[in-house]
Amino acid sequence: MTHDALFKRACSVIPGGVNSPVRAFNAVGGTPVFVASGKGAKITLADGRTLIDCCCSWGAMILGHASELVTEAVTKAASRGTTFGIATPGEIDLAERLVAASPLLEAVRLVNSGTEAVMTAVRLARGVTGRDLILKCEGCYHGHSDGLLVSAGSGVLTAGDGAEVACAGIPQMIAKDTLVIPYNDLAAAERAFAVYGDRIAAVIIEPVAGNMGCVPPVEGYLKGLETVAHRAGALLICDEVINAFRFHYGLYSDLAGIQPDIVTMGKVIGGGFPLAAVGAKAEIMNALAPCGKVYQAGTLSGNPVAVAAAIAVLDELKARPPYAAMATKAAQVTETINRAAERYHVPLRAQRYETVFTPFATTALPIRNLQEAQQSDAALYAKFFHGMLDRGVYFEPSQFEVNFISAAHSDADVAQICAAVEETMAALAR
Ligand SMILES: *Cc1c(COP(=O)(O)O)cnc(C)c1O
Repeated sequence: MTHDALFKRACSVIPGGVNSPVRAFNAVGGTPVFVASGKGAKITLADGRTLIDCCCSWGAMILGHASELVTEAVTKAASRGTTFGIATPGEIDLAERLVAASPLLEAVRLVNSGTEAVMTAVRLARGVTGRDLILKCEGCYHGHSDGLLVSAGSGVLTAGDGAEVACAGIPQMIAKDTLVIPYNDLAAAERAFAVYGDRIAAVIIEPVAGNMGCVPPVEGYLKGLETVAHRAGALLICDEVINAFRFHYGLYSDLAGIQPDIVTMGKVIGGGFPLAAVGAKAEIMNALAPCGKVYQAGTLSGNPVAVAAAIAVLDELKARPPYAAMATKAAQVTETINRAAERYHVPLRAQRYETVFTPFATTALPIRNLQEAQQSDAALYAKFFHGMLDRGVYFEPSQFEVNFISAAHSDADVAQICAAVEETMAALAR
């Protein structure tokens, strides 16, 4: 079936034809694609075309699609029952692995999505400090809960309504408890703490921002944020829903040498299933029900099939860390984009951190915050995106996102991506 026909059917029963707005092609134009299947780094579309996938379910598929390890683990798990609403030993196995992966974690609570993990982290921070305000950065996305859609990145940003609450249905009463500062601007954080310091429960940050495109922290920023927060008696929440287990086996916070009080994890740790986690030292985690007074729950939390997938993925990442090879491949793609763009005089440059990258439609790198990211030319990015898609490569359908290299991307896949880049740049030059 053609994608136009599928999209028409989808739109008649699903708003905008998609179950998450980031899957729409609103930022790049055209009809979104529909996937029939995936294997390794490739996806096969409903119209029969095969593409190299750099979305990888927004980073969740770090081992690539339909990895045999994962398929086998989930098949076995499913045959033993898919949910009980009663504790299972597998949940302990996964929690032990997460706790062992970082000195910052003494306990974790498993939830079903990154959004839930962040909701719980924020409630915990408020419960522990007895304060209401949350400080967040412009362009960082922390899931779709009410208070965090204020000046958020990702799909909210792509929708183009600008800063502030780019989302109807959020009461002013709730939005007013979220303070917003520019990312990578320590002075702005210091000013916010100078005015509101004794009322701020936590500052929440994506340590390596991914939802305004790939924007790494500048030297000293995260440590500075930690110091300012702690001096005011506030907590630091690192939202590592993308970052955790993406750059090494463990948390990015440990690589950066910072000590967040609460950490959220998702995407990679779910092994391709709806599973995420919030973790911290025991003292903070024990504020959660049933030990403490901060309520949080979930019928499907710690779901045995998702847990089996998560364990299979983590064990593989630990046994055969793919990170260095992934980073080398991401560097090859990024350098090819930048060299070809320069050669063909196309004002587009890619920014990378380790295994993730974003082609921004601007030559003004580095991009350090949302304002700089938004200087880029959306129409040019749309042309680049469609040029790549026509040549068999699926990049993110917005430049305010990151592309992912997985452990399944082979040298041949990278060569094919690079060839598509060369051809696309040549076409854009004309
Ligand atoms: C994806 C993402 C979330 C939300 O996770 P979902 O599983 O989509 O609810 C939260 N924070 C960050 C940093 C993310 O990238």
